Amino acid sequence: MLEELKERVCEGNLELARAGLVAWTGGNLSAKDDDHGVIVIKPSGLRYSEMTPKDMVVVGLDGRIVEGERGPSSDTQSHLAIYAGRDDVKSIVHTHSRYATAFAAVGREIPCCLTAIADEFGGPVPCGGYAPIGGEDIGKIVLSTIGRSPAILMAKHGVFTIGPTIAKALQAAIMVEDVAHTVAVAEQLGQLESLPQEEIDSNYDRYHNRYGTDAASLGVSR
Ligand code: 13P
Ligand code: ZN
Repeated sequence: MLEELKERVCEGNLELARAGLVAWTGGNLSAKDDDHGVIVIKPSGLRYSEMTPKDMVVVGLDGRIVEGERGPSSDTQSHLAIYAGRDDVKSIVHTHSRYATAFAAVGREIPCCLTAIADEFGGPVPCGGYAPIGGEDIGKIVLSTIGRSPAILMAKHGVFTIGPTIAKALQAAIMVEDVAHTVAVAEQLGQLESLPQEEIDSNYDRYHNRYGTDAASLGVSR
């Protein structure tokens, strides 16, 4: 069942590997199918280099394995908790991408000191407390701490991102690593300063409501 979604979820997982956000078998990506009341998720512990659509696992929203030859990702219960708590979320990504996970290792948020961070995340990228892999506690912390950001760091673990589509959840995973890298380098160069809240809000508004579509708002015309 769900052959097309399995293909898209597999392709999304492979994109994480191509983007250099995951190593060996770490990380995972899932997507939700509302019509069937299921999610499709990466199998646990399978190398990305060997992954094909038929390896994807179909899991009911109640946690039952509906289809799949392999066990589902260790983070399945947390993915399900996030889908249960946020109806707008249709895809979830998890990585241990290097620079973002360095912030998670020390339990620090990524400060909102760049327009790119305000644009994408609407404020600092938050860091949630530690929770063990395997249960739904990671998901509960994501729900309580993520706010309007599509990305969160989980202390001593890594990155979780959410989106209304697979592409959007991937975008947040790529962008959080990009800004974490820049901020980590910037910290070596000098003191970081957050953007003022009104600049954070106006960048977020422009990026979400006009960026890429509304040339007139920039004072240029055809
Ligand atoms: P899985 O291979 O079980 O998805 O585990 C990877 C991981 O990053 C767990 O947090
Ligand atoms: Zn992990």
